[in-house]
This record gives sequence, C-alpha cells and structure tokens, in this order.
Amino acid sequence: MVPKTHPRYKSLLNREKVVEAFDKGILAKAGLTAHGRGESFDYLIGEKTTTEALHSIKVASAVLLLAENPVISINGNTIALSKHDIVELSEELNGKIEVNLFYRTKEREENIKKAFEEDKEIYNKIKNKKIKLLGLDPATTNKQIKNLDSLRGKVSEEGIYSADVVLVPLEDGDRTEALVNMGKTVICIDLNPLSRTARKSTITIVDELTRCIPLLTKYVKEYKQKDKKELENIVKNYDNNQNLKSILNYISNRLKNMEI
Ligand code: ATP
Ligand code: MG
Repeated sequence: MVPKTHPRYKSLLNREKVVEAFDKGILAKAGLTAHGRGESFDYLIGEKTTTEALHSIKVASAVLLLAENPVISINGNTIALSKHDIVELSEELNGKIEVNLFYRTKEREENIKKAFEEDKEIYNKIKNKKIKLLGLDPATTNKQIKNLDSLRGKVSEEGIYSADVVLVPLEDGDRTEALVNMGKTVICIDLNPLSRTARKSTITIVDELTRCIPLLTKYVKEYKQKDKKELENIVKNYDNNQNLKSILNYISNRLKNMEI
C-alpha cells in the first residue's frame, strides 16, 4: 500500500492499479510499458491538466453530445485505471462501452468480463441495460476494421463499427488511423503529444486518463443545458494541430524556465 502522505501518491496508486490489472490477466505486458511512457510525458507537462487539454476536453464533450452513436473504446489500461469513471461517462451518453484489445485472447476477454461483473453496481447497470459492454461476445463482435489484422480489427456492429464518434483513451496509431479512414470522428486521450495516435486523431486530449475522464463527464453534464447551435459553436473553430503545437510550446517553455 502506498502511504497517502507520499508526495507522489496518485502516481504510485495508478502504478499499483496497473500492476494489479496485469496480475489479474486484464492487462498485457505491453500495457505496463505504455503506462511508463505516459508517466514520463506527465512529468513533462507538470502532472496537471493544461489550458490546452481543457480546451480539447470541452470540444470533445460537445462532440460527444452532438454524436448520434458515440462509443467509448476501452483497453486493459483504461479498465485498470478508470473503470468506474468510464461507466459514469457512458451513462451520460448512450451507455455504449466497447472492449477493444491490442492483444486479444479468450482468457483476457474472460478476465475483463469478470472485472466488470464482479462489481455489483456495474453488474446491475449492465443487467438493467443502463450500460452496454460490447466487444466481448463473439456472436456480435464479428465486424472487421479494414487494414488491420483480424484480431486487432474485431469490432461489434452496434458499437465501434457503426459509431460516428469514438472516444479512444490510449489507442495505438494504426487503429486510430484506420478508424479515421472509416470516416469516424476519433477523440483520443494520450499524454504523448508526439505519438501517432495524438497526431492522427480528430481531437487529441493530451492529459492523464484519470484526470481527464471526470472532466469529460463534468462538461458533458454541463453542456446538456446547451442547444445544438451552442454546441456547434464550441466545436467550430477547433484546430487539433494548433492545439498540439501549443502543447509542445508549453512543454518546451516550461522546461526552459524550470528552476532546478
Ligand atoms: P503510436 O505512436 O502508434 O500511437 P504508442 O506507442 O503511443 O504508439 P501505445 O504503446 O499503445 O501506443 O501507447 C499508449 C499511449 O498511451 C502512450 O503514448 C502513452 O503516452 C499513453 N498513456 C499511457 N498511460 C496513460 C495515461 N494514464 N493517461 C493518458 N495517456 C497515457
Ligand atoms: Mg498511441
């Protein structure tokens, strides 16, 4: 157990959660290295939500509300760190969550199903159809994303395949590109502004997952008061490349002016 007084409490707690998910067979080995890469970029941005990230979070919230069929795509890292927050966000939308794994095995699918269903509250939400956990049942996960190998490209018709907007926390570049090529609006959450995912997505939120999801939920709730026109105005002038450039500037200025 990490003591609460530890100056790096939150970061260490997240690391523990990721390790625990690995031990439970939810996360692949590569998920551990992906987490470490995220941690290092979080140091560079100062472990807080930047103004630029908040801007893309607001735009993403409006886009999610304007969507007809938004789907939240989740992988091992997302489940390890943000299972409950993802459920809460999806309930504010249409309840669709789809498991989308880079390393898909029958065993990992089973472990993920268990991780959701062993939580009584979440289990009841699935039973009462408040949320839908897609991407695990082979009978309905039978569509294929073009240009990806068969296991990595498996999606459900009701979920990612027919979605107009996909929120992909921690996606890999290839799949992001494939989704964009299918004409989808892709919102990613990625601490690395240089990753292919960050550069290929329609909207890139350069922020840490556990800071970001509650903020998305907050703005989705708040923006429900707005009409379509107002939401469209929030989205209208957003420029993802510009936003990424601002973040790189922010990081380099922060490093140049840092007192050691
Ligand atoms: P590509 O360049 O193809 O996108 P990648 O190496 O970035 O490849 P992954 O290996 O899937 O793709 O890495 C996942 C990404 O998730 C990393 O870029 C890392 O910075 C980011 N990441 C890891 N943990 C978190 C987190 N907790 N919050 C936000 N981003 C994270
Ligand atoms: Mg990536």
